[in-house]
Amino acid sequence: MSTARDVLNGVDRERSIRFPVEKIRQDFPLLANAVHGKPLAYLDNAATSQKPLAVIEAEELFYRRDCSNIHRGVHELSERATRWYEDARTKVQQFLNARESREIIFVRGTTEAINLVASTFGRKQVGAGDEVLITAMEHHSNIVPWQILCEEKGARLRVAPINDRGEIVFEEYERLLSPRTRLAALVHVSNVLGTINPVREMVEAAHRRNVPVLLDGAQAAPHLKVDVQALDCEFYAFSGHKLYGPTGVGVLYGKAGLLDAMPPYQGGGDMIRSVTFEKTIYNTLPYKFEAGTPNIAGAIGLGAAVDYVNGIGLDNIAAYEGELLAYGTRVVGGISGVRIIGTAREKAGVISFVIEGIHPHDVGTVLDQEGIAVRTGHHCAQPLMERFKIPAATRASLAFYNTTREIDVLAAGIRKAKELLG
Ligand code: PMP
Repeated sequence: MSTARDVLNGVDRERSIRFPVEKIRQDFPLLANAVHGKPLAYLDNAATSQKPLAVIEAEELFYRRDCSNIHRGVHELSERATRWYEDARTKVQQFLNARESREIIFVRGTTEAINLVASTFGRKQVGAGDEVLITAMEHHSNIVPWQILCEEKGARLRVAPINDRGEIVFEEYERLLSPRTRLAALVHVSNVLGTINPVREMVEAAHRRNVPVLLDGAQAAPHLKVDVQALDCEFYAFSGHKLYGPTGVGVLYGKAGLLDAMPPYQGGGDMIRSVTFEKTIYNTLPYKFEAGTPNIAGAIGLGAAVDYVNGIGLDNIAAYEGELLAYGTRVVGGISGVRIIGTAREKAGVISFVIEGIHPHDVGTVLDQEGIAVRTGHHCAQPLMERFKIPAATRASLAFYNTTREIDVLAAGIRKAKELLG
């Protein structure tokens, strides 16, 4: 069996040395744990990533020292909590290079961000006979909200096809942008295929036809630099928990002009300026979309996660993960009977595969006994499974704290699964 050292050439090895993965791993306490008596190899980062101490400690400090509700009290704790929460918003604004911090709405996650747009902007924008365009590689959370909307409005959901490598067929995508298209909702990076879509070009093509674009960045924000002004998308959504932050918090970016014109999503405290029984005047952005007490600790934790990721640098992260992906593709793809699903030319760190004659759930169970955490199933993308004519797949998804050693462990686990089940 080849190891990292055998495969990496001189240049790669130099880069590995420059990327201090072992030091970084010490920031993630969970990674040191054993599972079933084996060292943990956590390769399920597309589902959720592990949290650095900086995030865990920020949340803890909030609860130990500053816990209070925000935007309401005049007392010291409330002011501290408000400052911390709003600082997190500014960090996210800078992280996405949004023009203004009021363009950053804290939500529960990508799913809620998309539902927010569907039920406010979507409801206003889409009517009978109109179309919403998505791609064949969407996560269920970027399919179902649009289906619900289309059903309600008598509109039609159109789906841009992909090729066998898992890349968008650009001409077909362009062709499907019709005079009836009211919105394109597109995944930036596929959670199953790892495909990095040419979203800049896709946004441009949509704008040529006056179609606004929402990008699902759940799998992009943790792995590559996102600049919403350069992308020029109308909306961008991501989840904190995949970006090394807490669960239950995420972000919707929207262009201020659009957000301003949109009706509110939920009614309640904080989203109002004044209320009488006759009439309510809504609050300004971003508060208009943050009804009720938000996940304050979560947003603070997300701010700490953004700082942490910036400290390593997304360019360094992308380069190191690219190296891991190339290594993993060679090592896993080289095992006989293994077929990798998703071979796009532009790919982020996801390796989905099937093994001839063995069900992915059985593979997952054998790997689990070896301390390896991977995902098996349809990955919330059932139409994509159908496209590749497979019922399910096993997915190893990478983060910057993974190592070539863990990939070697995965490859050994796959060989074992083949021996036991093949
Ligand atoms: N879109 C994509 C591409 C995803 O991978 C995920 C999470 N697997 C989501 C949306 C939904 O994210 P969340 O569950 O955090 O709302």
